[in-house]
Amino acid sequence: MAKHTPMMEQYLKIKAEHQDAFLFYRLGDFYEMFYDDAINAARELEITLTKRGSSGKAEGIPMCGVPYHSAENYIKNLIEKGYKVAVCEQVEDPKTAKGVVKREVVQVITPGTVMSQSMLKDSENNYISSLSQFQDGTYVIVYNDLSTGENRLALIEDGWEAVIHELYNQPIREIVISSSLSEEYQKHLKEKLNITLSYQDEVTFNAEYRGLSENLNDERLMKAFSRLLNYIQHTQKRSLDHLQQAELIELKDYLSLDMYSKRNLELTETIIKKGKHGSLLWVLDKSVTAMGSRMLKKWIERPLLRRSQIEERQNIVEGFYEGFMEREALRDALKSVYDIERLAARIAFGNVNARDLIQLKQSLKRVPEVKNILNQFKQPEINTLAELLVFPREIVDILETSLVEEPPISITEGSIIKDGYHQKLDEYRYASRNGKQWIAELEQKEKKETNIKSLKIGFNRVFGYYIEVTKSNLHLLPEGKYERKQTLTNAERFITPELKEKEALILEAEEKSIDLEYELFIGIREKIKEYIPALQHLAEIISQLDVLQAFATVSEENNYVRPKFVDKKLMIKNGRHPVVEQVMTDGAFVPNDVSLDDDNSILLITGPNMSGKSTYMRQLALTVIMGQIGCFVPCDQAELIIFDQIFTRIGAADDLVSGQSTFMVEMLEANHAISKATDRSLILLDEIGRGTSTYDGMALAQAIVEYIHNNINAKTLFSTHYHELTAMENTLGNLKNIHVRAEEYEGNVVFLHQIKEGSADKSYGIQVAKLAELPDALIERANTILQDLESGSKPAPITDKIESGQLSFFVGEETAEGETKAQKKDNNVIEELKELNLFELTPMEAMNALYELQKKVR
Ligand code: ADP
Ligand code: MG
Repeated sequence: MAKHTPMMEQYLKIKAEHQDAFLFYRLGDFYEMFYDDAINAARELEITLTKRGSSGKAEGIPMCGVPYHSAENYIKNLIEKGYKVAVCEQVEDPKTAKGVVKREVVQVITPGTVMSQSMLKDSENNYISSLSQFQDGTYVIVYNDLSTGENRLALIEDGWEAVIHELYNQPIREIVISSSLSEEYQKHLKEKLNITLSYQDEVTFNAEYRGLSENLNDERLMKAFSRLLNYIQHTQKRSLDHLQQAELIELKDYLSLDMYSKRNLELTETIIKKGKHGSLLWVLDKSVTAMGSRMLKKWIERPLLRRSQIEERQNIVEGFYEGFMEREALRDALKSVYDIERLAARIAFGNVNARDLIQLKQSLKRVPEVKNILNQFKQPEINTLAELLVFPREIVDILETSLVEEPPISITEGSIIKDGYHQKLDEYRYASRNGKQWIAELEQKEKKETNIKSLKIGFNRVFGYYIEVTKSNLHLLPEGKYERKQTLTNAERFITPELKEKEALILEAEEKSIDLEYELFIGIREKIKEYIPALQHLAEIISQLDVLQAFATVSEENNYVRPKFVDKKLMIKNGRHPVVEQVMTDGAFVPNDVSLDDDNSILLITGPNMSGKSTYMRQLALTVIMGQIGCFVPCDQAELIIFDQIFTRIGAADDLVSGQSTFMVEMLEANHAISKATDRSLILLDEIGRGTSTYDGMALAQAIVEYIHNNINAKTLFSTHYHELTAMENTLGNLKNIHVRAEEYEGNVVFLHQIKEGSADKSYGIQVAKLAELPDALIERANTILQDLESGSKPAPITDKIESGQLSFFVGEETAEGETKAQKKDNNVIEELKELNLFELTPMEAMNALYELQKKVR
């Protein structure tokens, strides 16, 4: 083993404590990485891998590095890929250090703890979560967003599956768990949910956390919360004063959407492209602030259950809907409000500059205007919001008196603080300005005395102030007064003792004022820090306002109406699909009614492929969700009932997600719905039972419908292409057949997308196949077979050979004797078998013969 240099020894020691992160080891102007870190970073970042001689040995240590001034981009790149980076700095001055410079990890940057704006998405939270499992079978999830200070907890009482449903589709970048969580569960988190795992086994409560956990009154919650905070402290090593009081999410207060529904209904992202475009969020997001966008996303995923809460939102939306002018004014005012929530967090974290604080000031200055606008509405709920909106005058005053309007980005180069804010600073500035004035006057004086018009006084970093005289004028200078400092091609530069003396004063004043400005800035930042809770409260109210105005705006633009909430009978008149109607380019969306009550609780929907069954079902679920988040809904009139849960199951044939869904999964999903649903739930079963053969698929579908009908009585929409199932209407009292109408016109099917009572008259499968442009001969043949099947007779053999040979496996090709090709092949094999003379064969030959025969019939 090669002995390591003292520096490598230091490196290895630090690295040993940060096994799961890339160690960015500061060496001069670079962050260097060694060994596996270097190999992996070179690959991930596409940078050159080099070698470093190890104590004179030839083999060398793999190494690569990035310049420290551009490190942020490299770090960002790694974080986005789900890695962690431990930043190790020199913590003493290399000039004065004895031996190896002391180094320490000053921060571990992880996907869940990034704070820099460039690594965050404006309109999405960036959660670091923790998950704790308890003896009693319960789990606690903590959601923390360092970039906003949010702290929320959820207690999950129905097992691991429920944990996955809860975590699914949340913007969680990293999850802190115990190292003893089972391998299988860790795999779920990592692979199914694609979350970076981190470990923290220490769950002891630290007295410092008391302020944050006053609302938590359960030991499990405290432990889970401590796990997360311990981890954050361990990695961040800096002020987290902006963290907000932890709050328990009462899951039973919200409509519950399992992961299948979140996905299938495309609430916040589409299934295939995984983007916002085409999702419900995309349609509804008329918010004008990033804070509003983030809140809207949360509201969509947790619709409300309490009627009074929903109606409170509705009243506000109605006010905004009706007051177009005021709403426009409100939107305008909100447009110039920056992300106060994240600014507040960055103030606490210590990474804001003066420009950020000016943005904060400008945002806060809009508050009185917003209050004013809100007070023009007559809805008491809107006036309450106005009252909650408190203008933080002190903050504005502090910033108004201290910071210049257009400060530079850097906080270490001065020009940040206003004149008159601080006496000492004013003195330095006076000295420096005065000195500069003196120099300007000196220039005039020297010009006059020497009579050199082109004489000038300049400044550079190396020589300081100098008097510059062109070569042609040198003879005009008096002897002895000037000291030569620098010679240029055309000119000479001189200094004088009095110039140097003034220069010293000016430079000292400037240096001191820059240092003082920095100090003052930090002081201002600390002062603002005391107002963080007020800022966070303000941010919360502004986010709500923004989402509610977004609801009003989208409702007006898209002609939504305010739904009424009733107890028994759901009724939607001329309902539309909020997303499909937006993306339709050809022709208008065909509206349809929905009616569901206890006596008609299951709608069995038949109709050809592509007629609009799936659209109709999703349209109902989206309308229910829009209603329960307080938005208006896409129809002419709506009376909705409040649902406690929504379940959606999409049959295998319709599940476009990378063919993941096997029949088994489909059945698991169905089971999930059946075991969790209540008579207040909404179930959508879309073509379930397709993933297996006709008879058992149909049998299962029927059994599932019967089970729901007899045991759950949840409101259910069930679409199927199995016509036979429509007969259930005769036996199940609460089931009603409906169908999507299609018409035949000159042998072509025309989709009308209209929902009608009763069952579809036929499947139109062949017409759809025709639309898909299958060969005419094939379509004709299919029509013949269908006629025969419908008349109850065995399909007649085909007379004309269909050109394309590949069709033979589903249109049985027959020989002249009425024997199929396959039968003939089997008979040939039997003949050959009979003719084999076993006694003449060696065992090996017998084996080969058998092999050949088998090959023929397989
Ligand atoms: P199915 O589930 O019956 O196969 P889909 O619901 O997937 O049919 O609908 C197929 C297509 O028909 C949709 O992509 C949409 O473009 C169109 N469509 C469905 N419903 C309507 C409607 N009510 N009005 C207009 N177009 C519709
Ligand atoms: Mg469908």
